[in-house]
Amino acid sequence: MNFEFLELTELRKLLDEKKVSSVELAKYFLGRIKKYQDLNAFITVTEEEAELQAKVADDYIASPGENPFLCGIPYAAKDMFLTKGIRTTAASKILDNYVPPFDSTIIAKLKEQKAVLLGKTNQDQFAHGSSGESSAYGFTLNPWDKTRMPAGSSSGSGAGVSAGLAPYALGTDTGGSIRGPASFCGVTGYKPTYGRTSRYGVISMASSMDTQGFLCLSVEDAAHIAEYISGHDPKDASTGALEVPEYHKNLQADLNGLKVGLPKEYFLEGMEPGVEKRVQEAIKQIEKLGATIVEVSLPSTHYGQMVYAIITPSEISSNLAKYDGIRFGHSTAEAKDLLEVYNKSRAEGFGDEAKRRIMTGTYVLSAGYYDAYYKRAQKIRRLLVNEFEQVFKQVDVLLTPTSPNVALKSGLAQHDPIYAYIADRLLVNCNLAGIPAISVPCGFALPADGETPSADGLPVGLQIIGPQWGEQKIFNVGYAYQQATDWHKKHPSI
Ligand code: GLN
Repeated sequence: MNFEFLELTELRKLLDEKKVSSVELAKYFLGRIKKYQDLNAFITVTEEEAELQAKVADDYIASPGENPFLCGIPYAAKDMFLTKGIRTTAASKILDNYVPPFDSTIIAKLKEQKAVLLGKTNQDQFAHGSSGESSAYGFTLNPWDKTRMPAGSSSGSGAGVSAGLAPYALGTDTGGSIRGPASFCGVTGYKPTYGRTSRYGVISMASSMDTQGFLCLSVEDAAHIAEYISGHDPKDASTGALEVPEYHKNLQADLNGLKVGLPKEYFLEGMEPGVEKRVQEAIKQIEKLGATIVEVSLPSTHYGQMVYAIITPSEISSNLAKYDGIRFGHSTAEAKDLLEVYNKSRAEGFGDEAKRRIMTGTYVLSAGYYDAYYKRAQKIRRLLVNEFEQVFKQVDVLLTPTSPNVALKSGLAQHDPIYAYIADRLLVNCNLAGIPAISVPCGFALPADGETPSADGLPVGLQIIGPQWGEQKIFNVGYAYQQATDWHKKHPSI
């Protein structure tokens, strides 16, 4: 029997009915990870731990009583999530030998569920990037076309779920890093409201925007997983105290009465025609399901990427200050004095992109430039938040393309630092405003560069954006759409 691409309720049923054991499932997916290792989706594969965790899950399933929903089901985690006793690198040489002494809250919650960790996925270094190409452990390949990028920064989680190496994989999204790979790899990717999931034990990128979510096979799966990883965490003061709804029970396939906004600034002029076509078809489909579609405007949208390019490095430069070669991580082998320990350890450990962001961040925060850059960026951030608040008084959700293009050729981003910023221009504003969004597959389009891997082309993503704490709304729209279409059921032939 094949287990890849089975959704979570199907896996749950098979496990509960003892048609498969958790150990068998873990071995099956570990086998696929090995078979498709050329995708470079994983930095660390946790074979032994996975089998141990699966045995524990099997014992639990064998005992009387109901099983937790994720019990015995394998998953993968981006290498930003601290995992006790398991190497966690953030895809940087500076953390090459780092083995955390504790679990992040989300990993701990999944352990409570008796979920089975298969390994840690590849990513852009410290989650800086949109291509996966800034990883110190090599590029990740897109399973739909191995000459192309899977997008980033959650590159391995995107490629891994798309290739059926894990039923779902955790990711982080500070400026689009879950939704981007979901779109390029043809899977569902969910970024919650800021503070809906805990940042505790997740390596920080830009703390005022960091959110933790995942990539998976359907919105129904997303609604399930979100229930188990969300909620207030006493260890993260920025998590909200709001109760977590039973998202999956509230899912509806009917969108009658729902008002959907199309923000005109998100339908860019230079967008690939195939992408535009697929997104317009998806909008029509959602209208057919009962929603009313109206055009809306978010006039300051285009400032978002500039504001992001100032605030993110500012926060990055202070978050990366702790990697000093002393407390943990890489320490230089030869230093004459303390200052040289700092300088050399950081110079040897950080990749180019991290260094660039440290320098930019330090610059815009320095005394002479703080008012001109950082403070003004914060003011515009407020404007963006206000505009979203206004628009969500008129509509329930917004629909936009996730990316103006399908997957690009690998290597494009490696030498172009600007790519990381422009690639996510339809995504970063949600992070600046702290609001939730999901990307769902909505068909295929030919790439602008003309080289077609298959006659159908490559996956296109539809982004559904909701108001703060409005996760249920985006799940409902995505679920209704996936009930009526089967784009999320298409998988690459690898
Ligand atoms: N493209 C964004 C960046 O490079 C993505 C970051 C993220 O979401 N982790 O900053």
